[in-house]
Amino acid sequence: MDCLFCKITNKEIPAQIIYEDEHVIAFNDINPQAPLHFLVIPKKHISTLNDITEDDRELVGHMIMSASKIAKDQGVAENGYRTVFNCNNHGGQTVYHIHLHVLAGKSLGWPPYQDTLKQPI
Ligand code: AMP
Ligand code: ZN
Repeated sequence: MDCLFCKITNKEIPAQIIYEDEHVIAFNDINPQAPLHFLVIPKKHISTLNDITEDDRELVGHMIMSASKIAKDQGVAENGYRTVFNCNNHGGQTVYHIHLHVLAGKSLGWPPYQDTLKQPI
């Protein structure tokens, strides 16, 4: 399958891997939007959040548990961090293999993308 994140999972493309277990892998984002920005992905290919099923309940839970564990290991849990799943075009998804963004290391603005909103919600 021609999927960038499957290739990272299969070690066909290098990445700065910071965590790996049987079901997930986490690596630093190549274009970080915060001092610490990593992605947690399932080893199983799932294109978007629209495609998760009941069978993926435990896997998606495990992605979030892993993000929490890695944030603690990286020393950012106490100050805090943001987790984001982008879904499809309006969500800003560019890689179609689900991934949980974890951003940390500075005080993050909220709401996101406020400055790029071209029209009122
Ligand atoms: P999204 O826009 O939510 O689909 O996020 C995709 C993320 O993957 C972006 O933040 C990219 O910077 C990141 N990314 C793309 N290619 C790579 C790569 N080869 N290694 C690490 N991160 C990547
Ligand atoms: Zn994939």
